[in-house]
Amino acid sequence: MASVVDTKLYDILGVPPGASENELKKAYRKLAKEYHPDKNPNAGDKFKEISFAYEVLSNPEKRELYDRYGEQGLREGSGGGGGMDDIFSHIFGGGLFGFMGNQSRSRNGRRRGEDMMHPLKVSLEDLYNGKTTKLQLSKNVLCSACNGQGGKTGAVQKCSACRGHGVRTMIRQLAPGMVQQVQSVCSDCNGEGEVINKKDRCKKCEGKKVIKEVKILEVHVDKGMKHGQRITFAGEADQAPGVEPGDIVLLLQEKEHEVFQRDGNDLHMTYKIGLVEALCGFQFTFKHLDARQIVVKYPPGKVIEPGCVRVVRGEGMPQYRNPFEKGDLYIKFDVQFPENNWVSPDKLSELEDLLPSRPEVPNIIGYTEEVELQEFDSTRGSGGGQRREAYNDSFEEESSSHHGPGVQCAHQ
Ligand SMILES: [Zn+2]
Ligand SMILES: [Zn+2]
Repeated sequence: MASVVDTKLYDILGVPPGASENELKKAYRKLAKEYHPDKNPNAGDKFKEISFAYEVLSNPEKRELYDRYGEQGLREGSGGGGGMDDIFSHIFGGGLFGFMGNQSRSRNGRRRGEDMMHPLKVSLEDLYNGKTTKLQLSKNVLCSACNGQGGKTGAVQKCSACRGHGVRTMIRQLAPGMVQQVQSVCSDCNGEGEVINKKDRCKKCEGKKVIKEVKILEVHVDKGMKHGQRITFAGEADQAPGVEPGDIVLLLQEKEHEVFQRDGNDLHMTYKIGLVEALCGFQFTFKHLDARQIVVKYPPGKVIEPGCVRVVRGEGMPQYRNPFEKGDLYIKFDVQFPENNWVSPDKLSELEDLLPSRPEVPNIIGYTEEVELQEFDSTRGSGGGQRREAYNDSFEEESSSHHGPGVQCAHQ
């Protein structure tokens, strides 16, 4: 089910998730006009938010990532580079996506590492029954040989070029009495602030302080969990010296199911029956998500109208953290009528005797005109009352069936 995880960007533009490109464009133009800094100098941030929301949502790839994974999707989707983060914090200062500002520093003042987000695909069966699964991933851990120092104690020296700051500041004089400070990453230590002599570097990590390690996480998908729900492993993300590791966050992605569609804790399914079952009662079985065979009975005498919905209470999804409570199962009946001429006309009169009688035809006086009822494919639409010729697609269809001159030219 393609439900949207987060609607913030849609809210900014005041459109519903699933809005068409045109609706987005309209909403953006209207708001951009209203909040343009020229007109509305106090609404500068609002204008940036609007522009950013439109930039993401008008790009099909970014929009898909955002719809599926929320703001984290955009962070991850930026290809691991810090680019998106810069845009986020540049525009919103951590304000729009609440947690970003909070997470950059931890309680004890240490810098906090990036969270690692992984989508985890789960079947509806898994979400119904619960499941424990192992997930293997590779992450950076502090090198145990050098305790994350990159070399022997004492081998690590403060970079003299930047005095350990990792950046060098240059003062440029623009005009007498006017100077500009320019900061650049220190090239001697690549911004680390430290240097280690080649011979003193730790052999295991080659002075990088961290090594790749394969980690296996045991993931408990609980009964009743939902699409878009997060399972967090605190502090399990990449380690780096002096940095408190971020979290590994698994984002549940519910796979589509052949039989059931989920709506919160309720399940929906469609079941085909024939006319005889619709009128004379029926019994059928289906396999539920926990493999139970469920028998559904409907007694003779009760009628199922085409397209109607009946409900089975308590056969929906288990509630998260309260799995003995379950939602409901809604069954929509697709009634299959018999084919044309399925029975000889004289038999039809027998059937007619059994069916509820038809309304009496009123006596018609005066001039009448008889018309013919034709088959109609509702998927083609009614044409809105326009003549067929007025429609481009039906016009093309007609000309190609005559092999119009354009088509012939292409073959010569
Ligand atoms: Zn090492
Ligand atoms: Zn340096």
